[in-house]
Amino acid sequence: MKKFTPDLYYKNIFEINYKKLKKDKIKYIFFDVDNTILPYTTSNVSKEVKDLFNKLKKDGFVLILMSNSGSKRINKIKDDLKIDAYTSSFKPLKKNYKKILKKYNKHEIIFVGDQIITDVFGAKRNDLKVILLDRLDNKEPLTTRINRIFERLVIKINKFERGKYYE
Ligand SMILES: [Mg+2]
Repeated sequence: MKKFTPDLYYKNIFEINYKKLKKDKIKYIFFDVDNTILPYTTSNVSKEVKDLFNKLKKDGFVLILMSNSGSKRINKIKDDLKIDAYTSSFKPLKKNYKKILKKYNKHEIIFVGDQIITDVFGAKRNDLKVILLDRLDNKEPLTTRINRIFERLVIKINKFERGKYYE
């Protein structure tokens, strides 16, 4: 079950200890989009998120979006944040990671997302460090609701506890 266990677990992107990531030589932070940086119900990036991303860029991190949503939704968000994005990624399938990861040094990457089945498993099976967050909102599309059924099962087997944050 190691592949379903996040390396770090925080409430949201604002709680992440970025100083620690810097110390651990992380350069590239891959963010999931939906329910990680904004809810499914909007495509407007909040000022708080914009400010955080600007600060992280200034601190030398390279920020990248990797979403299973299509470019129609993600392009506006990536333009607002002025960063690169991979869309329709089919996380956790390996194919796209393989293509994407060629361009980076794996050891310098950490992945950040709100789902165990797509974000955590997708990262771990590709040997990436991963941070799990709580979802921002409980409104989710059908595919995600199905994933959550498996997620609850994995959490039960794994004895992972929601709300017990760790780093
Ligand atoms: Mg998500």
